[in-house]
Amino acid sequence: MHIETPLLASATLSRLCGSEVWLKMESAQPTGSFKLRGIGHACRVHRDRGATGFVSSSGGNAGLAVAYAGRRLGLPVSVVVPTTTQQRSIDLIQEQEAEVTVRGEDWNAAHEHALELQTDGRILVHPYDDPLLWEGHASLIDEVATAWQGEAPDLVVLSVGGGGLLCGVMQGMDRNGWSDTAVLAVETPGAASFHAACEKGQLIAIDRIDTIAACLGARQVSQQAFEYGQRPAVSSALVSDEAALSACRAFLDDHRTLVEPACGASLAVAYGQHPAARGRRRVLLIVCGGAGVTLEQLQRWSKQLEQSDDQR
Ligand SMILES: *Cc1c(COP(=O)(O)O)cnc(C)c1O
Repeated sequence: MHIETPLLASATLSRLCGSEVWLKMESAQPTGSFKLRGIGHACRVHRDRGATGFVSSSGGNAGLAVAYAGRRLGLPVSVVVPTTTQQRSIDLIQEQEAEVTVRGEDWNAAHEHALELQTDGRILVHPYDDPLLWEGHASLIDEVATAWQGEAPDLVVLSVGGGGLLCGVMQGMDRNGWSDTAVLAVETPGAASFHAACEKGQLIAIDRIDTIAACLGARQVSQQAFEYGQRPAVSSALVSDEAALSACRAFLDDHRTLVEPACGASLAVAYGQHPAARGRRRVLLIVCGGAGVTLEQLQRWSKQLEQSDDQR
């Protein structure tokens, strides 16, 4: 269902960081993000166990991936999205022939409703907290390990929302023996639930989400993501919305690929020459992608950030 994505050396980012920077281009997946790996895997397993349909509570890339997987498997999909969801995201999900219901003011409220739609046959596919998802996401590390014939990078850079990608990457790293590789988990300050849990040393929920990187907006990460965060090799970094957005713009020029600010956050680590990414032998940056972006939307976000800056 997902494809094997390109693994590209970035001359620009390598020069900037003084490290060999490699990009795993998950933006090239049919639904525009890595989500299809885990969700495609989960949907297939559920189908084999007799599922007759799927429910999702995400108006973003997870909902789109469930819609795509359901269509490919010939099973109906219902996606419940909160009122804050962009029309474009709804259009993309409907294009995959899924039924969209708008319900609730935020993801938690939409998720409550999605739970009610669940039946024995209709399975709710969680956007990040599900071992089947992690198993599927881990395949991206397998691909890199195969390409590099077992040689590991010094550092993996990735974005964290609820931590599904992190769990998958850690699982993939473990099974490929990348035991000396550091991991930098990136968020924006308005969605810093992983950062908060790492600082406190316990799993906690943040009060509210306030960022243009909507995909990073989970108020609490999963228990498993928190536990991986306790490993010494894993550290957390924050980059501003402005830095994430300007990384999206620079990446569009340098690599001719449009990605969401959620992905821009990881790119900003390299563009901003974050100390963790400098002078490394080899850095793997996961370009997680995202379909909820257009050139026009990038410009609207720029204006929005300028205005909130003026108000400060
Ligand atoms: C889902 C998503 C994330 C965050 O992934 P988690 O598994 O929730 O941590 C980051 N970027 C993009 C583009 C996403 O779709």
